[in-house]
Amino acid sequence: MKTYEITYGHQKIPFKLVRSKRKTLETRVKPDGSVEVRAPIDLDINKILEVVSKRGRWIIKKKVHFQQYPKEGLKKRYVSGETHRYLGKQYRLKIIASEEYRVKLKGGFIEIHTPDPSSEIIEELLYNWYTEHAEMKFNQILDNTMKIVKKHGIKRPEMKIKRMKRRWGSCIHNKNRIHLNLELIRTPPYCIEYVIFHELVHLKVPNHQQKYYDLLNIILPEWKKSKNYLESIEMV
Ligand SMILES: [Zn+2]
Repeated sequence: MKTYEITYGHQKIPFKLVRSKRKTLETRVKPDGSVEVRAPIDLDINKILEVVSKRGRWIIKKKVHFQQYPKEGLKKRYVSGETHRYLGKQYRLKIIASEEYRVKLKGGFIEIHTPDPSSEIIEELLYNWYTEHAEMKFNQILDNTMKIVKKHGIKRPEMKIKRMKRRWGSCIHNKNRIHLNLELIRTPPYCIEYVIFHELVHLKVPNHQQKYYDLLNIILPEWKKSKNYLESIEMV
């Protein structure tokens, strides 16, 4: 791993470069503000510096975000008082000793009733609750988005929800199936909608070619707002 540097405006941005067997270049800003770039093994260093420079504004934005919300993106502890998101809104966890297992939204709190307050159990209960709500919410949004995309010849795909580390969504073109990251339930509905539209358009145009964006722009002209939001937050 080597360290390089780009300049954005008057700011110097150092970053660590990790080369691996991959096809694309990925820039990550960590919650501590450090920057890591993952690049294909044989990609020319000048090309890498050029691409990272173009992402300068985005890097600064993410650094500022983590300064404002230093705890976001840190490992969750699943204890009372900790902030968790649901559909883009912030709630605090309230762990309540009880004889039964139950999760419910009450005021600004996600109440977790449990006989066992260990963090593994709380995480499991919370994610079971997230899954239940994601099944409903994502299907409801998919129904609405289908009304718009079906006139472009896109058929309703099978939808699967799972926890993913790196991506908000993906699609299997030849199986007419889309996968959505369960973590999307933490983001505002317009972001869930964007990821669904993004994958639905892929069912027609597999890659990010111009044709892809032409169609996405017709279907969801304001998609950039959602993309920016998703890029500004840590996945897990
Ligand atoms: Zn895509």
